[in-house]
Amino acid sequence: STDAHQAATSALDAVRRGEILADVAALRDSFDAGTTRPLEARIAQLDALAAGLRAERPRLLKALEMDLGKSRTESLITELGVVAQEIAHVRKNLRVWLRPERFGPGLLLAPSSGQIRREPLGTTLIISPWNYPVNLALAPLIGAIAGGNTAILKPSEVAPATSAALARLVHTHLDPAGVRVVEGAVEETALLLEQRFDLIFYTGNGAVGRIVARAAAEHLTPTVLELGGKSPVFVDEGMDLAATARRIVWGKFTNAGQTCVAPDYLMATQATIDRLVPHLRQATIALYGRDPRRSRDYGRMVNQKHFDRVLALIDDDKAVLGGTTGADREARYLPPTIMTGVDWDDPVMGEEIFGPVLPLLEVSGPDEAIARINSGEKPLTAYVFSPRSEIEERFIAETSSGSLALSHTLAHLGSQTMPFGGIGESGMGKYHGRASLQVFTHAKPVVKKPLRPDTLRLVTPPYRGAKRAL
Ligand code: NAD
Repeated sequence: STDAHQAATSALDAVRRGEILADVAALRDSFDAGTTRPLEARIAQLDALAAGLRAERPRLLKALEMDLGKSRTESLITELGVVAQEIAHVRKNLRVWLRPERFGPGLLLAPSSGQIRREPLGTTLIISPWNYPVNLALAPLIGAIAGGNTAILKPSEVAPATSAALARLVHTHLDPAGVRVVEGAVEETALLLEQRFDLIFYTGNGAVGRIVARAAAEHLTPTVLELGGKSPVFVDEGMDLAATARRIVWGKFTNAGQTCVAPDYLMATQATIDRLVPHLRQATIALYGRDPRRSRDYGRMVNQKHFDRVLALIDDDKAVLGGTTGADREARYLPPTIMTGVDWDDPVMGEEIFGPVLPLLEVSGPDEAIARINSGEKPLTAYVFSPRSEIEERFIAETSSGSLALSHTLAHLGSQTMPFGGIGESGMGKYHGRASLQVFTHAKPVVKKPLRPDTLRLVTPPYRGAKRAL
């Protein structure tokens, strides 16, 4: 793999290589010069980001439409809006969050005082994916700036229009001493990963997550890995199924299912499935009409490769809504699809679906649903719809996932006060709001013990007297 790696990086011409290395060096120099450290500099850079976001809004919306067929409103809610709110929230609280945290170092050191200072990490690298290409690039960047770091942002080449729009936003509105965008694919990223960073923040799939973690190990660089997985939904008996269905199909079909926390598959008893299906169908029609292809609010697959991958997961015999017949490869259109009678070893259950396909699987009840979750990798989110708090509590206590959402889907991702991240195969490290500041800084304890009274003499040699006292 080292050969492949070298071949990949050497595919870059010397000029491009030089530019990328110069960007990293420039950011390291400005970090060392302290440019990004003062609170005022951080606030100014956050303000510049907010202003850039406003100024570049038409370009960003157009790019999101080109890359993912995202409607203006969906883009405003799930991408630009979330980022604008995140900036406002961090900007408003940053001064308070940066206040030293006091602690008492304890009896051995008494008298003494302790404080925790949050210090910037240095030069950070943010590698972002294509599915929410504005949100998932800029939300981590807010954390990097708030923490007083410099940052390279490497957006996803899979959403090329948005990548270009992000580069333009950063390069026309932000201080290049603090943030630079490196556009590119595997070669550029591989070259970046050879460099020494102080934190790498990666969002994407687990296979590349491993490449990132391996490269980071070389320099003992800490990593935040925001990965994916199959986020399960359990629908209990006795739930209001019309309301439940509305929340599930919205979470599933937003961005044509290309959402890291999208409900991946649904578990319920057969009786509940039978009653739920008409509601799911109805709720989907309510959101996107009888011909979702003509809905302005229904997105497209990001490219033909992902179209083909998800298409192959659809079994038309099991589809009770959608299916392959209405699909259009040229237009990258896959209809919202719901499948029943799905088995645990069907292809659709073999990988994260990441597309508009919802398989419904029969379980005998909460016991089996919990066992099924626990037999797989730890998901990014788990969803439980139950009218019984003791059942909710069982899922909380007996399963493990990045987060757990009760009676709703997706919306928790927009919270600025909820630390968001995965566990196990779904990742490591948490961010958003204060958690972003925490992950992009080092919490440095500082302890002061005055010279007098000199109580440390009690624990210095000769120990003979002390031993007798113990
Ligand atoms: P992607 O293909 O855009 O890849 C992500 C990034 O990795 C890109 O910037 C890409 O250039 C880079 N990359 C790709 N191959 C590389 C290589 N060989 N070496 C170095 N860098 C490389 O996006 P993706 O991985 O298809 O994203 C989808 C996945 O991300 C899904 O699994 C989804 O669940 C997950 N995801 C997680 C979150 C989260 O917040 N936890 C958010 C969105 C997506």
